Amino acid sequence: MAYSYDDQNIFAKILRGEIPNKTVMESDHTLAFEDIRPQAPVHVLVIPKGPYVTYDHFAGEASEAEIADFHRTVAAVCRKMGVTADDGPGCRFISNAGEDGVQEVPHFHLHILGGRRLGRMLQKAE
Ligand code: AMP
Repeated sequence: MAYSYDDQNIFAKILRGEIPNKTVMESDHTLAFEDIRPQAPVHVLVIPKGPYVTYDHFAGEASEAEIADFHRTVAAVCRKMGVTADDGPGCRFISNAGEDGVQEVPHFHLHILGGRRLGRMLQKAE
């Protein structure tokens, strides 16, 4: 089954300038902005400007230029926010996909979380 993209999702509206965002960084193919409900002192979302639903959708169908630009922006955001693991305290990258991944917004995004000790990645379900 192919992915279908809902252009009424909230990040599509942010990309069209219909709702505001706190931009951290922008490049040709990528936007990074602050999460509206931060779960850590650093909580930045990085999204491609193209219409991709999940990470695997993006990784499978985006152009080389979009993929390179996205990942270079991730690196630049980590540097800018001071959460690299080489000369800083590190961080966590998360990308939720679909139902089991409990994805809220159906536009691919990478969460960059840092600025505090984050604890274990997953906890056992009740
Ligand atoms: P996910 O469960 O990975 O789809 O997470 C979606 C994220 O988008 C959540 O962390 C929300 O807090 C965040 N979010 C939702 N609406 C906005 C918005 N208008 N601006 C910034 N972040 C948002």
